[in-house]
Amino acid sequence: MSVIKKDTAILKNFINGEWVNSNSIQALDVPNPATNELLTKVPVSTKEDVDLAVVAAKAAFKEWKNVPVPKRARILFKYHYLLTENHEELARLIVLENGKAYKEAYGEVQRGIECVEFASGAPTLMMGETLSGIAEEIDSEMFRYPVGVVGGITPFNFPMMVPLWMFPLAVACGNTFVLKPSERTPILANRLAELFAEAGAPKGVLNVVHGSHDVVNGLLEHKDIAAISFVGSQPVAKYVYQRAAAEGKRVQALSGAKNHHIVMPDADMDRAVQNIISSTFGSAGQRCMACSAVVVVGENDRFVSALKKKADELIIGNGMDDEVLLTPIIRREHREKVLGFIEKGLEEGADLIRDGRREIDELPEGNFLGPTIFDHVTPEMTIAREEIFAPVLSLLRANDLDEGLEYIRKSRFGNGATIYTNNAKAIRQFREEADAGMLGINVGVPATMAFFPFSGWKDSFYGDMHVNGKDGLNFYTRKKMITSRFDG
Ligand code: NAD
Repeated sequence: MSVIKKDTAILKNFINGEWVNSNSIQALDVPNPATNELLTKVPVSTKEDVDLAVVAAKAAFKEWKNVPVPKRARILFKYHYLLTENHEELARLIVLENGKAYKEAYGEVQRGIECVEFASGAPTLMMGETLSGIAEEIDSEMFRYPVGVVGGITPFNFPMMVPLWMFPLAVACGNTFVLKPSERTPILANRLAELFAEAGAPKGVLNVVHGSHDVVNGLLEHKDIAAISFVGSQPVAKYVYQRAAAEGKRVQALSGAKNHHIVMPDADMDRAVQNIISSTFGSAGQRCMACSAVVVVGENDRFVSALKKKADELIIGNGMDDEVLLTPIIRREHREKVLGFIEKGLEEGADLIRDGRREIDELPEGNFLGPTIFDHVTPEMTIAREEIFAPVLSLLRANDLDEGLEYIRKSRFGNGATIYTNNAKAIRQFREEADAGMLGINVGVPATMAFFPFSGWKDSFYGDMHVNGKDGLNFYTRKKMITSRFDG
């Protein structure tokens, strides 16, 4: 936990290989969501801080882009080794600042390490294409080059995985990077930067600037930033996409979600209940791939009562405790918003069959909310339409699969969707017609791994090239075409 010890008073930015104080005198508290004890403070850095980082990244780019690709990849191999060596410490840091359960955090570290594995293949990934004889005596060749300085803006819910979706691949492709981590989970970012420097990344290749809106706007406006990778909530994603595109930058902006799980009458009910419970309530529902709406097809009271029973049995508490599944919400203010959604659900006539508000007083020190389930929710209700990002589940009733698919189509979000069934025809119809980018067949969290694109649709994504996989490679590289005539 060296990062915390070193920085207890106020976190530093990491610019040009040095730990530096922000120019700002403003700082925000970073409490542990399970106890509200102060962990550290995070500076609200300024546009001047952003400029220092971009100047460093731009200077580093001049040399870094010319470092042979296998040499760049070797730094990632070393980074992979260091992340693996420190796997447990990284997971503990995530629990401390984000609040999720240790097992989840451990899995998140693994997902991040896989991104480094993917990026380590840069020499193969960056290969171009050639065609000899595209016309008489004429050959065509395509080479890939980095785009320049990339800005990355990340959310609180995956402090390790999301930054690692971005900078390892960007840097392996020869870009340099300025990361703006979530101000609510900034600690791990410093540890990631520290280990990257230890792996041999030269000064200025990865920079970290902490803060909030000013840092984001500083990146979006900066003339020397070529591309922006963003992950966060829908309104901010849309703003970042529009603003960065208006400045002529490449942009990929991953956004909010409302993920539907369809439970068909023939489903393996134990498996469906188990998967839905962990998808909905794991990480306190604060996952962009969390299940937040279940479509119950046909009369299926057995499923609903089994779900409620399991929710009643959930152990709530600090993520460091092995038994716990339901961990705290990131901040008190966010819980207040969630309580507003619960009130709205009641006002609009949904049937509250499990009220998680009763657990709030049992664990007063943290930002806890018990599992909350509404039944007989209709697609027009606010709780069915909006992303609540909390342990709150809506059950919608449908007569058949067609109606369930219609609910998914009506949602403005399209990150993920799952079906529970063993019926091949239903599976195929779901695959063809579900209006979302990442589908699960009997899978609770169908999040894709680093080798494939993280593929949200509709208002869950703004841009055209997603993060990870070949999309990520295309986003972080630009192509140059050479046409050669050999007839003389
Ligand atoms: P958030 O939008 O509040 O913050 C994300 C980033 O944007 C942070 O770095 C923050 O400092 C910055 N930011 C926030 N408000 C801003 C503003 N007004 N102007 C400029 N910058 C601003 O998101 P969050 O609460 O940290 O994360 C949760 C959200 O992220 C959820 O909506 C979740 O669905 C989404 N998410 C999506 C994916 C995906 O793959 N689609 C993955 C993870 C999280």
